[in-house]
Amino acid sequence: MTSPKNAPSPVAAPAVTATTTRPARRPAQVKPATEGWKQATGPEGRPLLQFKSPRVSQPPTHLADLTLPEREAKFKELGLPAFRAKQLSVHYFQHFTTDPERMSDLPKERRAEMVDTMFPKLLTEVKRLTTDNGDTIKFLWRLFDGSLVESVLMRYPGRVTLCVSSQCGCGMNCPFCATGQAGLTRNMSTAEILDQIVQANRVIAEGGLGNLRRDGGHDAERVTNIVFMGMGEPLANYKRVMNAVHRMVAEAPEGLGMSARGITVSTVGLVPAINKLAQEGVAVTFALSLHAPDDELRDDLIPVNDKWKVDDALDAAYNYYKVTGRRVSIEYALIKDMNDHPWRAELLAKKLNQRGRGWVHVNPIPLNPTPGSIWTSSEPHVMQEFIDTLIEHGIPTTLRDTRGKEIDGACGQLAAAE
Ligand code: SF4
Repeated sequence: MTSPKNAPSPVAAPAVTATTTRPARRPAQVKPATEGWKQATGPEGRPLLQFKSPRVSQPPTHLADLTLPEREAKFKELGLPAFRAKQLSVHYFQHFTTDPERMSDLPKERRAEMVDTMFPKLLTEVKRLTTDNGDTIKFLWRLFDGSLVESVLMRYPGRVTLCVSSQCGCGMNCPFCATGQAGLTRNMSTAEILDQIVQANRVIAEGGLGNLRRDGGHDAERVTNIVFMGMGEPLANYKRVMNAVHRMVAEAPEGLGMSARGITVSTVGLVPAINKLAQEGVAVTFALSLHAPDDELRDDLIPVNDKWKVDDALDAAYNYYKVTGRRVSIEYALIKDMNDHPWRAELLAKKLNQRGRGWVHVNPIPLNPTPGSIWTSSEPHVMQEFIDTLIEHGIPTTLRDTRGKEIDGACGQLAAAE
């Protein structure tokens, strides 16, 4: 789930506190529409939704696609003892390497064979954009079939966040989204999702992510937080995404040993999958990209709203909180005169409070100002008013920051340009 096209990478910023200045403004309603491309539509003229991946070939099986017992079974097939699978897993998940030269604990005569069998090349770096101070890197990767996907690596005091992609393209057809324009090419494999993290960890280990200032708290040496806000709708690729999540939280040598709390799964609102996620037994952070509290606007802004309405999505989000005890995030990109009206802030607060208190947190996302585009940022005072209204109704609200702004805005932009 990427954010609207002019939104910077989705990461938290300091809370905005309430103020009382509210200049009067002209009521207006800008309707969502594509700019420079045409949405694919179905027989009834509604935007086409694509839930199933086309039947195309998948990447070769990689070590990260397999559970540890599956890796051990594979090694037995190769006539190798099971413990070699553990050793190879440590190289990948702990040392972030697939280089046989660095695997001196493995028998030299079979090292190349093990590496060739278990580590087919999944991600080839095509482009790397880095911010001036070096603390944000955007990667463009080419997959085995030529598909292009992106990930964004961001250092913060005490944590390193990676925004990952989960599908090649996307079938959700949101009118603001660069990723959705070409539709869904295919689901990414579990290993393709995980390899984005391992490659990022390698870059960090090699000193490629700048601004390492231990005295300032910039001391995380590997990716600590994952947000599924890159290309694709993660819950439309449920099985592979969840396998990847299980591998992220599994201790070495099975996986990366990350904290589930640091993993955010974001969706436009695939209700059955949200309910399934609640039962998954991994208490990841759940984020609902709502962007509108009323069906009239959301039907056009997020086409999947045709299938699951605002109240359905909010009920599922609330159920996630009830089952897991984890507070839910509501993502809300503030778009000038489209969804930033005071009555919408009131309606959003009402709908959230109707379901209970203390279960939810709203993250308004400021878009980049884009002259001439309907997808442009709300005026600062309008944004403030929206936030104030939510806070006055007791909804914790945090404006996201603008990280990634100078390197091509939201996910999907780079791949689209390529
Ligand atoms: S089209 Fe897909 S990737 Fe783009 S915003 Fe919608 S759900 Fe996210």
